Amino acid sequence: MQQNTATPTHCPYCALQCGMNLTPAPDGTVEVTERADFPVNRGALCGKGRTAPAVLSSRVRLTSPLVRRDGDLAPATWDEALDRIAEGLRSVRDAHGADALGVFGGGGLTNEKAYSLGKFARVVLGTSQIDYNGRFCMSSAAAAGIKAFGVDRGLPFPLEDIPRTGCVILVGSNLAETMPPALRYLTELKENGGTLVVVDPRRTKTAEQADLHLMPRPGTDLALALGLLHLIVAEGRVDEEYVRERTVGWEDARAAAMAHWPEYVERITGVSVPELRETVRLFCEPETAMVLTARGPEQQSKGTDTVGAWINLTLATGRAGRPLSGYGCLTGQGNGQGGREHGQKADQLPGYRKLTDPAARRHVAEVWGVDPDSLPGPGRSAYELLDALGTDVRALLLMASNPVVSAPRAAHVEERIRALDFLAVCDVVLSETAALADVVLPVTQWAEETGTMTNLEGRVLLRRRALTPPDGVRSDLEVMRELADRLGVEKGFPTDPEEVFEELRRASAGGAADYSGITYRRLAEENGVFWPCPATDAGGGDGEDASLDTTPDDPAREGDTVHPGTPRLFLDRFATEDGRARFAPVTHRAIAEEPDDEYPVLLTTGRVVSQYQSGAQTRRVDELNAAAPGPFVELHPRLAARLGAAEGDPVAVVSRRGRAVAPARITTGIRPDTVFMPFHWPGEGRANTLTNPALDPTSRMPEFKACAVRVEAVEGG
Ligand code: SF4
Repeated sequence: MQQNTATPTHCPYCALQCGMNLTPAPDGTVEVTERADFPVNRGALCGKGRTAPAVLSSRVRLTSPLVRRDGDLAPATWDEALDRIAEGLRSVRDAHGADALGVFGGGGLTNEKAYSLGKFARVVLGTSQIDYNGRFCMSSAAAAGIKAFGVDRGLPFPLEDIPRTGCVILVGSNLAETMPPALRYLTELKENGGTLVVVDPRRTKTAEQADLHLMPRPGTDLALALGLLHLIVAEGRVDEEYVRERTVGWEDARAAAMAHWPEYVERITGVSVPELRETVRLFCEPETAMVLTARGPEQQSKGTDTVGAWINLTLATGRAGRPLSGYGCLTGQGNGQGGREHGQKADQLPGYRKLTDPAARRHVAEVWGVDPDSLPGPGRSAYELLDALGTDVRALLLMASNPVVSAPRAAHVEERIRALDFLAVCDVVLSETAALADVVLPVTQWAEETGTMTNLEGRVLLRRRALTPPDGVRSDLEVMRELADRLGVEKGFPTDPEEVFEELRRASAGGAADYSGITYRRLAEENGVFWPCPATDAGGGDGEDASLDTTPDDPAREGDTVHPGTPRLFLDRFATEDGRARFAPVTHRAIAEEPDDEYPVLLTTGRVVSQYQSGAQTRRVDELNAAAPGPFVELHPRLAARLGAAEGDPVAVVSRRGRAVAPARITTGIRPDTVFMPFHWPGEGRANTLTNPALDPTSRMPEFKACAVRVEAVEGG
């Protein structure tokens, strides 16, 4: 039955996971109202969040399974569609083996779905070939965080700490457009007397707020961080005692930085020596300071080293693991954090455990009731998996992702998807990828189902069901249950999200991302709980009461009986074996594809405020489409003059991988050697047709942020 009262829940989009109330109206519409009790957004919402219900009732919403017949997708019954998927997967497995089956997930899936999808791939399909689109999001920061601190939690402190620090260096984040309510934390920082340094090759809306805006050449953030560390050493600003007591590896990192003279760094980056010196002054003079990174430094073929170089600054100056200070990553996708913790990554098991760790395999196998030796090993990373479609991987089950638009070298990825023997997609609309499928299953949306999400702070949240789903759709959990049945696994795939979460608690117990002390009840009562939150019984997760039965003398919540969760990490020790952080001994290296005579300009890609990721949902919202109707090429007036292009003229951007055409948007707010395209659209203006899939050797992150292109006027434009 439809509920007519306001239900507190969370936005379906980005990693801020803003709180909102949803109230169904008698006319079938849904009202979004402010939810001031949620501390992250305190009632503020961006246009995407305010209009999110439009996708629920969109006229293009899928409400019937589709099965390809005689070349066209046609409505089918659920049984017919599920039988066809089971048969498609089974026949490929019989002919080519389990690793010919691929599974591709998404950072928008709830924790319960991400957990179940990893289990489904490994237990039901027996394949190692599972990864997800979060690999394209923050995997470099995750890898660097694990190397440095022993654990990856995007922000190791709550957002509320940001306005109370002395200086923030924000590297490659345009949060004024990607998560607008978060801008408030930066304006409050400045109101409190703190300073903001923004590093971005474009003068974005966020950069306009900065006390100092550095505009490095795309792909040179690593050199920039090395130059800053050089000056920190040269100016005697290293916190020697902290380095001695809390870190390992300083001498190598120091030696690497000292080889990067400020003048050399200026030549590489285009950031002047006085700007470097001013950045060091702003960062080092206050008692507290932070470095926050986002996709700019992370989406590079050296993203792990680049983030490591920025983390080095926080270690050399004694910031990491101290109150109101340190390093954090601003994760992008709604469940980018939780989605990488519970097993849909190619190399991980739930609880952020390594798939190659025998003890981890034993623990998870016991929870799953399977033989640890039956669990496959690590599979291919996201781009490598997509690149293997139609050859080594011949059938794919895809949820919550649209790689035809969002993957690098997208025309090639589209070609590989078309070469599959079998493709099944679960989605809410016929995305560009779903349109290529053999079977499309229409699934429930955020407001129609309950589940947990983990936001960029590591705060686990309860997203509540507020509406009755339309006839004809089912949840992803039901899909997995039905497919498991058809593939001969009759147990272990509950469809009740809370039941899945109870199992996830047990599977995560003792892991880095330990959820075993978290229950739905606590999430509802406490407005979220930060992990790690171990159950106070050693095994964890014996049902809700397990987390309530002990509590050590927790000063934070005197008299309480549960672990309070961990808003701030590393204050006493880092999560490494010896409790010390690791410096990254990194040196500058060029991007994978430097400009040359044929492709003399750099392309960088990103987002606009009114679209989200591949646009599969937001392009279906009239208000958002009116605000951001299509792609564009942002370029400097000097480059535009060379082309003879005026504002709005179509221009072509050509890389070694393809050609995209979009109207020119001319601005002095971009470097003259760089053009920018947002990546939310398919078709002629698809930015990812151009991007370079060169991978970071550690994180396997593609180089979305910098590749060589030429820009051409379009005949007749
Ligand atoms: Fe939703 Fe992010 Fe906008 Fe908040 S900032 S309303 S979570 S899209």
